[in-house]
Amino acid sequence: MTSADAGLPAAIGAPATRALISAGYTELRQLSGVPVSELRKLHGVGPKALRLLQEALERQGLSLGLGPARDLTTTPEWDAVYTGAEPAPWDIGRPQPAFVRLADGGLLTGQVLDAGCGSGENTLLAASRGAQAIGIDVSPTAIERARAKAADRGITARFEVADALSLDQLGLTFDTVIDSGLFHVFNDDDRARYVTSLASVLRPGGSCYLMCFSDRQPGTFGPRRVSQDELRTAFSDGWTVVSITADAFEVNRGFGATAAQAWLATMHRT
Ligand code: SAH
Repeated sequence: MTSADAGLPAAIGAPATRALISAGYTELRQLSGVPVSELRKLHGVGPKALRLLQEALERQGLSLGLGPARDLTTTPEWDAVYTGAEPAPWDIGRPQPAFVRLADGGLLTGQVLDAGCGSGENTLLAASRGAQAIGIDVSPTAIERARAKAADRGITARFEVADALSLDQLGLTFDTVIDSGLFHVFNDDDRARYVTSLASVLRPGGSCYLMCFSDRQPGTFGPRRVSQDELRTAFSDGWTVVSITADAFEVNRGFGATAAQAWLATMHRT
């Protein structure tokens, strides 16, 4: 494939084109918002290619990202992620396959909480399989979108703007909690608060199914990587870690690939 076929500017040269294509960037607009630091790591993409890419993007009203993408993990501006023109990498418009498998296994039942539900696909999945499901998220835009999807699809589910670090404020108790991509956004302190917060709303014997970015995912693009040990440590007190298995997030193509390595962890509250 040549740069012209790929919709990348020919002037960036063959090595840069090859490097970008092999990293999954086959169209110029996929580079919108991708951090410069990430592209610099691709062998063959030098300063000149970066400048030309930035200029080409600017002609389309787009631009490369500035800082490392892991800044995403610390930004308090979660709502902004849902108001942009492009959907966020994880906002794929369907439930994550890992959670579909859990639902197929009859595991998303009873009173289900989806912590950090985003635009609600996994909550709606649980609800459509008969659970009394509620999704919470800090982003009002995400919650609005989730409510609109529920209405459009005729699915009964509840969505509320709430902070996963103080779930006790919901005044509810759950049989099952699901987390698709929330645990991994927290720093060490908030991670501990989050696990305490989860424990405060999950009934003893209840289950938590958590999928996070895995330390087997190469590079630094995207959220902080999590190891199995970190998961076991985080859930060491008041929980039984039943299993941690290698799984994958499906992500939007603009991310540069369509999947990211994940851990799917199952914990029971003791
Ligand atoms: N589970 C969703 C979204 C994952 S992205 C999905 O699979 O598509 C992480 C989500 O966590 C974002 O929607 C973000 O707004 C939300 N979030 C971040 N910090 C949060 C907090 N403290 N409380 C609740 N939600 C939070």
